[in-house]
Amino acid sequence: MCSLSPIIGQTEKSLKEFLAAYQYPEFRARQILDWIWNKRICSFELMSNLPPQLRTLLQKHFTWPAIKIVQVQGQPGTTRKFLSQLEDGQYVESVIIPAAINNQGKQAERTTLCVSSQIGCAFGCKFCASGLSGFIRNLSAGEIISQILSAESLIQHPIDNIVFMGMGEPLANFDNVVTALDIITAPWGLDIGGRHITVSTSGFVPHIKRLADYPKQIRLAISLHGATDAIRSRIMPVNKKWPLNELISALTYWHSKRKQMITFEYILIKGINDSLDDARQLARLAQKLNAKVNLIPYNTVESLDWERPALSHCKRFRDILRLQHVPVTLRYEKGHDIDAACGQLRLKHIDVSHSNHHNSPKN
Ligand code: SAH
Ligand code: SF4
Repeated sequence: MCSLSPIIGQTEKSLKEFLAAYQYPEFRARQILDWIWNKRICSFELMSNLPPQLRTLLQKHFTWPAIKIVQVQGQPGTTRKFLSQLEDGQYVESVIIPAAINNQGKQAERTTLCVSSQIGCAFGCKFCASGLSGFIRNLSAGEIISQILSAESLIQHPIDNIVFMGMGEPLANFDNVVTALDIITAPWGLDIGGRHITVSTSGFVPHIKRLADYPKQIRLAISLHGATDAIRSRIMPVNKKWPLNELISALTYWHSKRKQMITFEYILIKGINDSLDDARQLARLAQKLNAKVNLIPYNTVESLDWERPALSHCKRFRDILRLQHVPVTLRYEKGHDIDAACGQLRLKHIDVSHSNHHNSPKN
């Protein structure tokens, strides 16, 4: 256990290990977690059922999150994006997405939070703002969790769904993401069911297999964006390391472990991956892997010259998938107005003029 780690990034197991090292009984772990997650207090001083020496010990070893929200975009009740500044001055962004759903005939509100898992991203997909300034560092489990707590305090009610679709490649920060998943799903923690959590990956094949062995029934989304190696490799360098046949074998393994469908995220970029033939290839792949497809017309990113196709074209693309009975959604308007594509808000706060990127469809 390293010193001064965020207390909200601790699991029951890690707290028990810490307590055992100082000869405190195991049950103190539950008491501490109860203060943090049920009573939602954020001071060791106030943990009145703990011996004073233990409170002092906790104080010496753990911190409370010191992140502050520095910018919020969007109005209450609509999709809102917020930028937080972390202790070391780095910025991280998260998006709150409210949705009205029909729950057994009753209208209900569900709120999804899109969290970041890293600052920047090393994967360098050519269309993506997160990769523009390169990779800076992993977020700790506590920093991932603190995005949820910040969102809940901003909207004043609990978050129902979590998607790891913000900045960074979650499977490249595997251990911290899994610790965060443990805390999010734990009955003593945020107690959000695995089915309400989606981890998105650009195709980190070995860790897809590792995540398939994770015991909770979380969902998996794959940022596919190309249904052939030629197209995928052109826009996503990850495909050169783990081409489609390896991705397919990891997803087959995932299926052998879990019942739910996986989701293919597919951004439509004009002239790059949006031909009707691309749609047919995508349909074949989705059928083969029993996947549903989310089509997302590209959100333009300042300093990149990629474009979204016209709505009529996106619909034609979608209809080819429908014709093949592939479950498909097309989200057209979302995001453009609040820079919802990952990494964009942060980019406005940092100077990327020295970054060495070549993100252009012409490359
Ligand atoms: N690194 C992971 C998690 C990030 S998810 C992954 O790539 O899956 C963020 C999603 O937004 C990914 O599907 C990504 O491809 C998509 N995205 C990135 N830039 C975008 C843009 N400009 N417009 C629309 N979607 C974008
Ligand atoms: Fe990284 Fe995902 Fe963006 Fe690719 S799409 S650069 S993997 S955050």
